[in-house]
Amino acid sequence: MLLKNLREQVLEANLELVRRGLVLYTFGNASGISRQDGLIAIKPSGVPYEELTPEQIVITDIAGKTVEGNLRPSSDLATHVELYRQYPAVGGVAHTHSEFATAWAQARRPIPCFGTTHADYFHGPIPVTDTLTADEISTDYERNTGIAICRIFKNADAMATPAALVAGHAPFCWGASAAEAVRNCVILEYVAKIAYYTEGVHPDVQPIEPALHDKHNRRKHGPNAYYGQGRHDDPRSDAE
Ligand SMILES: [Zn+2]
Repeated sequence: MLLKNLREQVLEANLELVRRGLVLYTFGNASGISRQDGLIAIKPSGVPYEELTPEQIVITDIAGKTVEGNLRPSSDLATHVELYRQYPAVGGVAHTHSEFATAWAQARRPIPCFGTTHADYFHGPIPVTDTLTADEISTDYERNTGIAICRIFKNADAMATPAALVAGHAPFCWGASAAEAVRNCVILEYVAKIAYYTEGVHPDVQPIEPALHDKHNRRKHGPNAYYGQGRHDDPRSDAE
């Protein structure tokens, strides 16, 4: 069996989506890539999470062609592939229809950065893709979804804001690994919920000041990051 460790990591990442309450039924998917082998491991399509085993994780090449596995890969594979192809630093991708992030995606509104929790993990607002055209939907829909995400980051750092809302659909997140992509989905959902509440408390609220935003973002992610115990991606180094 190819890539036993990666299969286990991807299985675990998918189960974490369930444990965190981000997916219903078989909605959502997570994948990881071995850059060394040029192979992607992704959840199979339509298999209930409680039945998933490492053997069922589908291995594909970087073009999305199945290399090992009897099940069909997640139907969103082509979106994941596009992110892997565009961004060499991406090691994992995750997609959910989590409630609050999906509400912003359906409203086609970027999530403004209203506070330091958001700034700790995402630089600037969480962007929304353009609405796909009828042609983009009828042919290569999933790939075009990935292209629409990448278009947002043409002049921006996709690793500094590792999330995007697909207009009328839901969020995709990414990270250095499948686990990190899932963690970004969890944090995104929290940020989306708090932003919704913030506007409820004060409909005309403005994003936080650039100085406060950058202070928080850079202390965790900048070249002079000093937060935590030396590993800025350590999930135990909680935001303050
Ligand atoms: Zn979806």
